[in-house]
Amino acid sequence: MAKLYFRYGAMNSGKSTALLQAAYNYEERGQRVLLAKPRIDTKGAGQISSRLGMTRPVDFLIGADDDARGLFAEHQARIRYTHDELAGLSSGPAEVSCLLVDEAQFLTASQVDDLFRVAVLDDIPVLAYGIRTDFRTEAFPGSRRLMDVAHALEELKTICRCGRKALFNGRLVDGHFVFDGDQVAIDGAEVTYESLCGECYLRESGGRLAS
Ligand SMILES: [Zn+2]
Repeated sequence: MAKLYFRYGAMNSGKSTALLQAAYNYEERGQRVLLAKPRIDTKGAGQISSRLGMTRPVDFLIGADDDARGLFAEHQARIRYTHDELAGLSSGPAEVSCLLVDEAQFLTASQVDDLFRVAVLDDIPVLAYGIRTDFRTEAFPGSRRLMDVAHALEELKTICRCGRKALFNGRLVDGHFVFDGDQVAIDGAEVTYESLCGECYLRESGGRLAS
């Protein structure tokens, strides 16, 4: 029985790097993987980019209203078809061994349920990577549902500026921390994030936690 994994962390915890490494590990063993991400991330749309400089195109983007399991099935069918058409010319595998999803925090709850069905009913392991909470310390919809239903939760750790383990993602606009605003501000001018431990977050927020 395959499982749904949620590998979560604060920003800059190396999630995309870990995802690309996991894909490489499968392919090194001669196995085929599919890479996907939600369409909402307009920065580097269609690509998975690691901070170490590696980038790789995704196989498909998941739109807000898409059936993620249906999209997976379409792409699995495309790979089988291509394999059959190229029989004798290609030694690539016909079956997908793993689905890897980047930026999984932006999935809807129902799309996370789709991924759960891919793991349990289609018997394909699903590795979902994402940020746990937004800059107001509230869970993203996809992450909340992944915390509910994933078979395995694995934390990817990163360090706060003080050396403690970072827990939260502080948002800075023009270099100043802000604690109000929309959950997603990917294209905002001069919006940056800093991974913070609980103590440093509370110091910056003046003791405020959630909105
Ligand atoms: Zn700190």
